[in-house]
This record gives sequence, C-alpha cells and structure tokens, in this order.
Amino acid sequence: MTSHTCPAKIVIVGGGHGGVNAASLLRQAGYLGAITLVSEEAFAPYNRPPLSKAYLKGETSADSLKLRSDKYYREKEIALLLDTRAVSIDRAAKVVYLQDPRQLDYDVLLLATGSRARTLPISGCGLSGVHQMRTIDDARRLRGSIGQGKTIVAIGAGYIGLEVASVVRDLGSAVTVIERESRVLSRVASSPVSEFLEGHYVDRGVRFIFNANVHGLEGGAAGHVTDVRLDDGRVIPCDAVLIGVGGLANDELARASGLSCENGIMVDEFSRTSDPSIYAIGDVACRPLPLSGNRMWRLESVPNAVEGARQAVASILGQAPPKPEVPWFWSDQGDLKLQIAGVPFDVDEIVRRGKGNKFSVYHLNSRQLVAVETVNSAAEFIKGKQYIADRRTVCDGQFKASALPPCDQMEIP
Ligand code: FAD
Repeated sequence: MTSHTCPAKIVIVGGGHGGVNAASLLRQAGYLGAITLVSEEAFAPYNRPPLSKAYLKGETSADSLKLRSDKYYREKEIALLLDTRAVSIDRAAKVVYLQDPRQLDYDVLLLATGSRARTLPISGCGLSGVHQMRTIDDARRLRGSIGQGKTIVAIGAGYIGLEVASVVRDLGSAVTVIERESRVLSRVASSPVSEFLEGHYVDRGVRFIFNANVHGLEGGAAGHVTDVRLDDGRVIPCDAVLIGVGGLANDELARASGLSCENGIMVDEFSRTSDPSIYAIGDVACRPLPLSGNRMWRLESVPNAVEGARQAVASILGQAPPKPEVPWFWSDQGDLKLQIAGVPFDVDEIVRRGKGNKFSVYHLNSRQLVAVETVNSAAEFIKGKQYIADRRTVCDGQFKASALPPCDQMEIP
C-alpha cells in the first residue's frame, strides 16, 4: 500500500460546474484543509445551461441559478473570491497570482477555467445589439433585445443558436439562423436529428440560411446593428444578432505556465496535467475517453465537468478512481428534449427507431453501440447509455422491436 499525504492548501481557479463540484466533493469526502475558489465573475457560481433556456425566457430568476447558497460556502469554509481573475502561475514556487496584488500559495491547484464563446473575424462585432451567450450578463443583455416585433439573427445553428431561436420564437420575435454548413448541429448530431430539427423549426417559423458565410455586421448612426451582410451580397435586416459559433478552451494560464496543452489542457485519466500538483477539469481539459479507446477529446458539458471533479478529488485524496462514465449531454428546446450518450467515433452503421417527435438514433461500430441520440425518449436514452457503458453489441432483431429490451435480456449475437 502506498502512503498518501493530503495537501494542506487547495486553490481552484474557475467557479463553474467543475470548480464548485470539486470544492463540494472535497468537503463531502472529509477534506479539512484550506480551499480557495477563485472566480472572475462577479455573480456567485451558477448553473449555465438555463441561460439559453428558462432564464432567457424569463421563467427563472438569477438567484435560483446559484449552484450553492452563500451560506454553503461559509459553512463549508470554502473561501470564495468573486470578481477576481487569476493572471499567472509560478509552478516552481506553487503560487497563483491574482489581478490585484494578492497571491495564493497552493499545494494542489485545480484549473476549472471553462471555455469562452468563439468570436468571428468580421467587422461590426462591437456594435450594440451584437451578443454572445456564455455568462449571466450575456443572457440578461440578449433578453433585453428580444420581444414582440423584433427580428433576431442567430449566426450558427449549434445548440446555443437553436436553443436561443426556440426562446426567441416563444417571445414573439422573428428569427433567421445563418449556418456555414448544410445542416443544423452539423458537428454534433447525426443527419436524421438535424433533418428533424430543421423541419421542427421551419414549422415554428424559423428561417434558415445554410451554406452561408457572414461577411460583416453593419450598423446605423447610433452604433446599433441593423444588418447582417453575407459573402454572396445578401443582406438580412435585424434588431439584434447572436453569435453562437462554438467554444474555445480558456487554457491561456496553463499555456503560459508551460503545462502541456493542445485543444485545451492535456490531462490523464485522473484529471492530472503534466505537472503532478496541477489538475484540470471541465470544458478546459482535453482528456482520455476510456470507453472510446482512450482517445483524447475535449467535451463541453455539465456531466463532463462533474466527472472531472470526481476524478480529480479522488486522486487528490488518494482514493480509488471513480468508474468511467459514458459522456452525455442534453439540450432542451421548447417541447423537445434531446439527450445524447457516448461519442460516435468510427461509426459504420446508424439505426433510427421511433417516429414523429419521439425517436432515437443509434450509432454502431461493428455492432457495438457507441452512441445514442434521443429526442423525447428518456427511456431509450437511459438504456442506450447503459449498453454503451457495458460495451454491448446488438442484433438486428433488437432494433426491429418497438422498445429495446431491458439490458439483462439483451441478446448477444
Ligand atoms: P464554466 O462553467 O465555463 O466555468 C468556468 C469559470 O471560470 C467561468 O466563470 C470563468 O469566468 C472562470 N474563469 C476563467 N478563467 C479564469 C481566471 N483566469 N480566473 C478566474 N476565473 C476564471 N451543457 C450541458 O450539459 N447541457 C446543456 O444544456 C448546456 N447548455 C448550455 C447553455 C449555455 C448558454 C452555455 C454557455 C453552456 C451550456 N452547456 C450545457 C455547457 C456547460 O455549461 C459547460 O460545459 C459547463 O459550464 C462547464 O463547466 P466548467 O466548470 O468547465 O466551466
């Protein structure tokens, strides 16, 4: 048996899902040392997914988004430094420097700095009425632009673009979605799901322009956006624009301190970086996916941030690592619930089951289920996720049945 020394001081940079979960799990596990959680945002750590859904629609308050109450941090003795940016790391001295003259010593440092919204290299992005969607302030500003009679242009038909389009329609605004590729969710969903969603949104009055590149955003004398100009010369008048073209890892701190980074901070299966005293989790981490042959991948989802927190905390405290989880994600779009489990690498067969607005798309590799996308089919999502975890192979007959059999009755070909 190896002996394990618990660190006396843990500093966590980033107060999102990863950082807050790590701090909570440390206390739950009985860790008694000092925990400092540094967040550059002024608002206490909050739940990000509702920003483009219930919060944008005005159905939930900012307070109800908080991941933990103020009392929780006090009682658990988690020192929460809000509105505070970490600017550099001295790895040799084990010190994090903040934007003010303060510095924090650490025995273990956990980087949970998340990702940021990608920008576009086009003119006019600084005009008022041009939005991104990453923070509670972004959501507040965008909400101020939506309403009866307004016209919104969403650039990018990814999850954020579609979720926002759904709310915009509910709130009575017109919406045009401009997408460079030929279908919605082209990077993250299969064609059957894309086709279904496109039809669903067209029926709800959303206009799509595919295979289109935005040339620039134009504004009037007041400095407010009025038009989106495409490369082919077309001009789309608007009252506001949302740029939703994906995320970039906030890995600058790590890069500047010499940690190994590619698309995000490279970590092992314990969420350890190339420095054994530094961990990285959540959107900023590029991690091995054990159920996909340890392929290195950067995921952007709440379950991924929580799993990273579990791995890091177990390793920091010298506990057994948690069982690998199947990556999963959800997206709520009006009355549609999309759930996705697994990552569709090396897929040689796609099977669609179900119809209308309740169906599933299974992704197989040599008959082994590697990913499932479900629309309004929670039961199939749960079973599919379990099959992926169990690395099960499936027979034709099982897909012909109206419902997948329970896992323990699955036929093995
Ligand atoms: P974050 O939540 O991004 O937190 C990182 C924090 O670190 C931020 O507050 C950032 O400001 C701070 N930070 C960065 N650098 C520094 C620094 N140098 N010093 C101090 N602080 C710093 N996922 C789903 O699974 N389902 C969904 O439906 C879904 N919907 C989403 C909708 C929106 C609008 C957005 C933006 C994301 C959504 N996601 C969804 C993704 C999910 O929110 C992220 O994957 C998750 O928040 C990642 O957690 P994290 O802790 O890695 O990073």
